[in-house]
Amino acid sequence: MSTFTLVAKYVSIPKQEHEFETLSACIQVNGPNITKVETCNTNDYTSYKKKWKEKYPKATFYEHTLITPAMVDNHTHLAMNIFRDLSHRLTKLPPNMIEDFFFHVESKLNKDDIRAFTRMGAYEAIAHGTGYVWDHYYHPRACAQGLADTGLSGCITGTLQDIYGPGSSFWQSTLEETLALHQESTWSASGVHFGLGPHATDSVSQKLWQEVTSLAQQHKFPIHFHLAQSKQEVQRIFAQHQQTPVQWLQHLGVLTAGVHLRAAHGIYLTHTDLENLRNKLSLIFCPSSAMSFAHPANINHWEHAGVNWCLGTDCAASNDSLNLLKELRIVYGWNSLQNTFNPQQENQIQKISRNALLHKVTSTASHQVPGAPVGIIEPGARANLAFWNIHHPSLWPGREWKAICLSDGNNALTQMMIQGKVFTLNMHKQDTYHAHLEEAEKRFLQVAKSTHIALT
Ligand SMILES: [Zn+2]
Repeated sequence: MSTFTLVAKYVSIPKQEHEFETLSACIQVNGPNITKVETCNTNDYTSYKKKWKEKYPKATFYEHTLITPAMVDNHTHLAMNIFRDLSHRLTKLPPNMIEDFFFHVESKLNKDDIRAFTRMGAYEAIAHGTGYVWDHYYHPRACAQGLADTGLSGCITGTLQDIYGPGSSFWQSTLEETLALHQESTWSASGVHFGLGPHATDSVSQKLWQEVTSLAQQHKFPIHFHLAQSKQEVQRIFAQHQQTPVQWLQHLGVLTAGVHLRAAHGIYLTHTDLENLRNKLSLIFCPSSAMSFAHPANINHWEHAGVNWCLGTDCAASNDSLNLLKELRIVYGWNSLQNTFNPQQENQIQKISRNALLHKVTSTASHQVPGAPVGIIEPGARANLAFWNIHHPSLWPGREWKAICLSDGNNALTQMMIQGKVFTLNMHKQDTYHAHLEEAEKRFLQVAKSTHIALT
């Protein structure tokens, strides 16, 4: 395992809850993890630099770079990047985009397609400063291979559905595959771990929810799912059980099983639902995606109810982008929009702080990921770091991450470190990227042909 030392004048260190502080730091990395962090005030950098140079003669020095934790995208479907273009080729939009169009195309995808498309999604995530993803998709082995091929770390939660959806014919093999992957020791070295991915409350039967919960308890799997994403989901559950999706999960014992739960979207939740979710799970807000599909959840209600929540991009199909910085901007402006649409609330609404924003894409639930923590710079955490050139005009003269987190920082991202490995961001110049691109392109054209979508 390689050991090396980084010394940087500006490092964004999470200080305490909801606080990031820029300090100078000497960071030691051993294999995939950070093993030691020494810090000093940036005003004392010159004298500390001298000491660190003597102590670590092989250290690499960064004077004009801000080092931050690499970001965590809390909800992705990386392989769905193919829909970024396909959706726009439709001459007429179907009544239910997910069930009538996505499911139709997804039923044609094989494992090699998913591996190839996942790679392209992973490259996009890395290029935007993301070092860890919570991915949810069919064929978990193919998703894991796609991640490992590129070097992105993450938790793969294979989509499980046994009532409807393209995975309903092979949910048993998805479950078996997840259990097998979890036992294979090689994945952890690639920074890839596994969890369970029931699709939603209405596409998964009572029996399967209970099986998933019991397996999660047995193997310490996180459960990552969609919750109250659509009106149809809420209507179906209510028609069957006269309960909301949250009440249904409560009834099944999922919320009190003592396992790590992460639920995406939460658009149609009642105040009572939110009360019942406090301290039970993390909700994941995907603002761009929700604005494209339906309408975003009311995060003020989430905040008011004291529910833990974080941010995700969802997928290029509904977002066009895997750039978390864009999501930060939307959340930052959220409460100002409330003033516009509800003038009597003017001046009563507090903006979410920039420090709190950054926590939504870094250390929220950092210690709940399988394996070493992510989104944090501390001994024992994964060496997942982002390097921003503060002399780039998009950032200059910023020094504090919180002060520049709404900038077009991706222009100034110079390199990424994931699992202790350095990634330069000129991937379009690399042979491996070209081979992966060529395969994805070939498969994209085949999928379009097999689903009768005209490409020019
Ligand atoms: Zn999703």
